[in-house]
Amino acid sequence: MIEILNARQLEHARSAGAIVGATLQALRERVTAGVNLLEIDEWARQLIVQAGAQSCYVDYAPSFGNGPFGHYICTAVNDAVLHGMPHDYALQPGDLLTLDLAVLKDGIAADAAISFVVGPETPGANGNPEAPEGAALIAVTERALAAGIEVARSGNRIGDISHAIGTVLTDAGYLVNTEFGGHGIGTTMHGDPHVPNIGRPSRGYKLRPGLLLALEPWVMADTDVLITDPDGWTLRSATGCRTAHTEHTIAITEGEPEILTLPR
Ligand code: MG
Repeated sequence: MIEILNARQLEHARSAGAIVGATLQALRERVTAGVNLLEIDEWARQLIVQAGAQSCYVDYAPSFGNGPFGHYICTAVNDAVLHGMPHDYALQPGDLLTLDLAVLKDGIAADAAISFVVGPETPGANGNPEAPEGAALIAVTERALAAGIEVARSGNRIGDISHAIGTVLTDAGYLVNTEFGGHGIGTTMHGDPHVPNIGRPSRGYKLRPGLLLALEPWVMADTDVLITDPDGWTLRSATGCRTAHTEHTIAITEGEPEILTLPR
């Protein structure tokens, strides 16, 4: 079902989005080498509760997982890219970490993801030899997201967004997986329409004000094939290569697209 939100629901979406943005920023500031993924999960739980929001993940039990997710945030390290289940792992310098978070506030969901390289801060510094490749992967997903947002305007179509995202990814030399992409969002975390990360312009659902979309370009350095961990959730690159993922929830308006998941 495709939802078009009313003005009151849009206000709730802004609240949910601000909580997601602020939580991801707070976590990013706290994460350093040595931090355990389970600590990040607990911090996420505390921040969600303090904000008066509800986790979209903890009870989430779609057909592809092994029962409820049971955690508050997705943590994906290096070759893990999507649905990363927090587990007992202490981050190492140079690890490429993706945090993906969705919450409900007053019945409306917002969803965002960031990728970053765990300190030291200078790419390529001692002890962080993987940082340059990681930085390039992250940058291309951020550029692809910006390109997708730029064309997310009333009257354009889903295919215009997919084409904009896919062009950035493929021009940079990456393969694009079409199993998982962006999605409509509203009273539930995952709704229609699906927003593939590659596509043909002028095709698909016509965008209109009040539509919320979670746009989420992600890439793997040298493959488009995913494998699933025994936990039934965490998706990794089939080759073991590094990966990155960047996501915002946006609202289609009469004018400029509104990014809802920036920290405010
Ligand atoms: Mg999403």
